[in-house]
Amino acid sequence: MHFSEKEIPLNYSCFLGYLRIMIVEFPEVCVKMAKDKNTDLKREKPIDTSSEEKPKRGRPRVARYPEVWGHAGNYKYNLSQAWPKLCAPLLNAQNVEDVIAAFEDHAQSYAQEFVPRLASDIFELIKATAFPQRSKAQVNYLAESLAGRPTVSLRTSRDICGKMRAEESAKSPYKIIRKEFYIVCECGYKGPAEFDACRKCGAQISYLPDILFGSKTF
Ligand SMILES: [Zn+2]
Repeated sequence: MHFSEKEIPLNYSCFLGYLRIMIVEFPEVCVKMAKDKNTDLKREKPIDTSSEEKPKRGRPRVARYPEVWGHAGNYKYNLSQAWPKLCAPLLNAQNVEDVIAAFEDHAQSYAQEFVPRLASDIFELIKATAFPQRSKAQVNYLAESLAGRPTVSLRTSRDICGKMRAEESAKSPYKIIRKEFYIVCECGYKGPAEFDACRKCGAQISYLPDILFGSKTF
């Protein structure tokens, strides 16, 4: 929402109201949550710790676990769509060129996503003794192995996906449906707000400064 110069003075009283209600968002809770999240992802040796500690400009070299997991999800979906037709010609491939041909001839709409970029990885995977027998397992194995390429190895990509899967299944099935600030009010009340207002005197939290400074939008 755009504020014209005329509107700002009208809302100035809200702004002062905001200054009076100091919002403190449980700093110790935030720190703890950040730590918990980090330990989950960093429990095993990260691929590249140095670049994770000092963020650099441009694309980071480190493989982001959620990003790899996201790719795996897309690959799983697309491969499972293509699998009924693609499966036989792909698994009969004798070389990398056959892999490319299998995708181009039998999974045309998905070919661009997989070949030629991932063709040699796919050939290696389907010829490995560990390659699964059942269709669903084959799709998942390919998708999770390829998800981190070329940043991480096929094996590491599977490990990352395994960890993400474990984390997802450990998550609570419930969603937060309401959140409140911790407030300090001029009336003397300190504690959680209720529906964005002081529980003692009813003073409301103003979001105007957040909107003006661009951290919140309508
Ligand atoms: Zn109050």
